[in-house]
Amino acid sequence: MNDMTLPLDTAQLQALDRKHHFHPFSDNKALGQEGARVITRAEGVYLEDSDGNRILDGMAGLWCVNIGYGRKELADVAYRQMQELPYYNSFFKTSHPPAIALAEKLVEVTPAHLNHVFFTGSGSESNDTVLRMVRRYWDLQGKPGKKTIISRQNAYHGSTVAGASLGGMKPMHAHGDLPIPGIVHIQQPYWFGEGGDQSPEEFGLQAAKALEDKILELGEDKVAAFIAEPIQGAGGVIVPPSTYWPAVKEILARYDILLIADEVICGFGRTGEWFGSQYYDLKPDLMPIAKGLSSGYLPIGGVMVGDRVADVLLEKGGDFNHGYTYSGHPVAAAVALENIRILQDENIVETVKAETAPYLQKRWKELADHPLVGEARGVGMVGAIELVADKAARTRFDDQGTTGTLCRDFCFKNGLVMRAVGDTMIISPPLVINHAEIDELIEKAVRCLDLTFEAVRKG
Ligand SMILES: *Cc1c(COP(=O)(O)O)cnc(C)c1O
Repeated sequence: MNDMTLPLDTAQLQALDRKHHFHPFSDNKALGQEGARVITRAEGVYLEDSDGNRILDGMAGLWCVNIGYGRKELADVAYRQMQELPYYNSFFKTSHPPAIALAEKLVEVTPAHLNHVFFTGSGSESNDTVLRMVRRYWDLQGKPGKKTIISRQNAYHGSTVAGASLGGMKPMHAHGDLPIPGIVHIQQPYWFGEGGDQSPEEFGLQAAKALEDKILELGEDKVAAFIAEPIQGAGGVIVPPSTYWPAVKEILARYDILLIADEVICGFGRTGEWFGSQYYDLKPDLMPIAKGLSSGYLPIGGVMVGDRVADVLLEKGGDFNHGYTYSGHPVAAAVALENIRILQDENIVETVKAETAPYLQKRWKELADHPLVGEARGVGMVGAIELVADKAARTRFDDQGTTGTLCRDFCFKNGLVMRAVGDTMIISPPLVINHAEIDELIEKAVRCLDLTFEAVRKG
């Protein structure tokens, strides 16, 4: 069966999928036995699967469909650009209008000191790029010993070799003998999971001090940069205590260490500001972006380069021996530009900040009253709830994430995508979600929490 234009039913699609498709981040054998969930179309904040079920997408795909599904304008732009110039590269002193226009637009919407962009095809490629940029920067500054990058346990920076090494996910490190040399990981600012008896504020300072301790241990002349997501996404929507970022900023300045703010999730409105760096008042030297840049309609990423680094790499660096065939791909760039136009013209980020995010957060935090929930937290259009056996002691049912998986499966069956990271349930809906859809999300979440609670009580 290879004529995919014929409508196939779910069982046929699953059989073909099982036969030939090696899925990312999946146990492919188990998936083959269960059969993949097949999503066939989407509109606004809703997905539709191959059985015709309508599912509220509480994750905006993989944190990326910021403007929602079904925006025809993006399809039209892609169609026109494909006819005009479907592909050309930006290597060897060449350029094309979509990349030029997108670069200018990105400089307009990002913080003032970020005046250059290096284009990539994804967030992972962006983080591979920053690794090479920071090391090149310190070479050009006559400090070739300053090469180590400090990251955090449970950080997510992508899945390429450098991305996974910069990330702090142990199960990822285990596949491929990672991290590569020159990358170290310190404690994450995850108060609920690791804060013990300390207040969140005390714990935030302790997690920041772990950075200073590591710098002193390695020697500041060995440390090139600190990389962090303003809010950790894939790690479980970890919102750092209020004391964390101010203390980190001071430490980085004291020891002259570059800041890489990985904005692949926080960027393009997720926090209610255009960038997480604005939400936390950070001044990153390098800022990887992807996901919301095109709302996921086509793959594209980039690294925003701050003036401090750009002045050295561009003025003194000569050739930068790095780039991707699809860096600044004209169709992807045109689509990203149209995506940003929609974000701007429809005041989507401003509406998130003033109206929909306050409402989502108010309703989300009501979930803390549920007997299964130890904490409900969030910022802007991201949120997390912690499923616990004992609310006061913050203890889990087990360390296998069984309860989270159970809850996630109930969600799917009941028309809601809510993701589980261990026993932390997370959401990151499209930024265009409205009040009625937020109510629906919360109602479905409550119902699934009830079903999960019932199931764990029965054992
Ligand atoms: C998703 C993600 C990446 C990787 O992006 P890809 O496009 O999947 O390569 C990097 N950093 C963060 C913070 C992410 O959430």
